[in-house]
Amino acid sequence: VILAGEWVVPVDGPPIRHGAVEIEDGRIVSVAPAPGGLDVPAGHVVLPGLINAHTHLEYARMGGFGDGLPFTPWIEDHIRRRAVLAGGDYLAQARAGAHAALASGTTTVADCSWDGSTLAAVREAGLRAIVHLEAFSQRPKLLEDLERRLDDAAPAAEASGGLVRLGVSPHAPYTVTHDDYVALVGLARGRSLPVATHLLESDRESLHVDAFADVLGPDTAAIHLVKASPQDIELLAALDVPVVHCPRSNALLGCGVAPVPELLAAGVRVGLGTDSPASALSFDMWDEMRSAVMLARAASARADALTAAQVLRLATLGGAEALGLAAETGSLRPGKAADVTVLDLTGSPFLPADVPEAAVVYGGSPERVTVTLVEGRIRYRRGEVAPTQPAGDHARAKMLAL
Ligand SMILES: [Zn+2]
Repeated sequence: VILAGEWVVPVDGPPIRHGAVEIEDGRIVSVAPAPGGLDVPAGHVVLPGLINAHTHLEYARMGGFGDGLPFTPWIEDHIRRRAVLAGGDYLAQARAGAHAALASGTTTVADCSWDGSTLAAVREAGLRAIVHLEAFSQRPKLLEDLERRLDDAAPAAEASGGLVRLGVSPHAPYTVTHDDYVALVGLARGRSLPVATHLLESDRESLHVDAFADVLGPDTAAIHLVKASPQDIELLAALDVPVVHCPRSNALLGCGVAPVPELLAAGVRVGLGTDSPASALSFDMWDEMRSAVMLARAASARADALTAAQVLRLATLGGAEALGLAAETGSLRPGKAADVTVLDLTGSPFLPADVPEAAVVYGGSPERVTVTLVEGRIRYRRGEVAPTQPAGDHARAKMLAL
């Protein structure tokens, strides 16, 4: 299979005008100028599949609830609505979320999963994923319960042939005690599983990174870091802790803007995530990239705080690096998995372009994604509607007017 386009943007190398990506047995075999005679679709851009480094697919249909509430009342509203959901409602939303991710050009998600439904949803959809099973201190028999959930999930993850991996997510410092952080991260490391945790998201937290220095490391993705101080950034860099930036969620909940330019300058690995539609409205990584650029520039009053090319890197290779997946995905490079997105910018005001990354970031949208491939297999074609949508509608309807 050869995917050709007016531009090929490999992300880890310069963009190629009239380029082509050759795929064989699910791997990329070449990234080069299109050979003579090959049809190169005008306006098409071939990109690495986007990496959504923080999602909750199981909350796919919760967008717009609790609008305008401050952080703590917002979480209370979120929990109150979810109390009416049955297990099948989480699966219905996770399926809707997996479809929405593929439909917006995402090929990898790192998901914090409340009840494990994400695992079935990503397996069905063919997404690459890390499924972090969430843990909260108030759950009884915390460690025993998590061990059982990991054991139950292991066969499905193993059957994915490496596409889906399990992880552990101690939820956040306001729901997990320090002792439980130590135990949960220890359990994850004992099984060689990655960790993800929400950290320094809002004023609800008073502890800083130094309070977690005994548990954080290169295998623990820290999500948000909105309230990171210069000392926090220094420590994150020293401990090689990757950070996941979720700018729309942080903005909509009134939490603030994470210091991304400072994190990048310190050498911290940074990925980009949407979080869930409950806070961020959608799984649309194009919107997320634009928001990241605008918020970084607004917060710093500097036009060079974050460029389109930089944010495209965060949404692809940066996410892969943050999640420990860069050997496999995140850029168009021979030998890597053929996780590829094709964007159709025909009729876009951003073409023709001299900086194709800017055209992609400012002109991209789910409607313009023509095809999404994971390991060389087509997992989404433009216009496809998820057959599971009615079940998602039903789950949403249950959460209204409580
Ligand atoms: Zn989250």
